[in-house]
Amino acid sequence: MKLDLDINKAKNYTSNSQIARVLTENWVKVHSYCPNCRENNLEEFENNKPVADFYCKSCSEQFELKSKNAIKIGGKIVDGAYSTMIKRINSDENPNFFFLTYDKKKWRVANFLIIPKFYFTSEIIIKRKPLSDTAKRAGWIGCNIDISKVPKSGRIFLVKNSQIISKEKVYSQWKGTEFLRNKKGESKGWILDIMKCIDAIKKDTFTLNEMYLFEEQLKLKYPKNNFIKDKIRQQLQFLRDKGLIEFKNRGVYKKIDYENI
Ligand SMILES: [Zn+2]
Repeated sequence: MKLDLDINKAKNYTSNSQIARVLTENWVKVHSYCPNCRENNLEEFENNKPVADFYCKSCSEQFELKSKNAIKIGGKIVDGAYSTMIKRINSDENPNFFFLTYDKKKWRVANFLIIPKFYFTSEIIIKRKPLSDTAKRAGWIGCNIDISKVPKSGRIFLVKNSQIISKEKVYSQWKGTEFLRNKKGESKGWILDIMKCIDAIKKDTFTLNEMYLFEEQLKLKYPKNNFIKDKIRQQLQFLRDKGLIEFKNRGVYKKIDYENI
């Protein structure tokens, strides 16, 4: 994998957004690989295919690409129509999401990450203000994707701060989250919420009592559940069984450090 964008590919374009699109799409096609099967076999869909931008010719996994001119990731990514996005995340058609940032001064990729489709919930899709009456598409409502609301386990970096992450680490992080693929509705919601609580504790190890501090917050989200503490314990055990956290000793857990891989 090389991080340079091939600027020759953009010589027939003048609009900045078109240039960015052509260069980043070309980079993904040439340099990226499918995290699901590790094959370097990504192909573009024909233009304007509504569902996704790329598919893997080996395993059929689909990906949508969003890119922006930035060295740092930041939290928000501008996406298309709000209603379309909400519909998509509730259907089986939702693709995985590639997010790329590039340094325009050097035409180099700075960050490239994957968010698996099963990490998408309506909470990370933020509605924007409707376009004003004077706009061409007055009343149209777009959305932002707030990746800071995605648990760390679901932000799988292939390139982070201009460093290439090894394919084996990418693959193991991807595989480590696959159990979520078949989870739906509230059961998926609980797992993601507990992951986010764990992320919010800014230490490598944490205790059950520290997790219980999220009881009220979780109760707001699940008002009908009268056994929040039991649920927290159950989810921690589940995440431990799936290898996303480690059990140190009684009531003490250790995080997997995604920042340093
Ligand atoms: Zn594949």
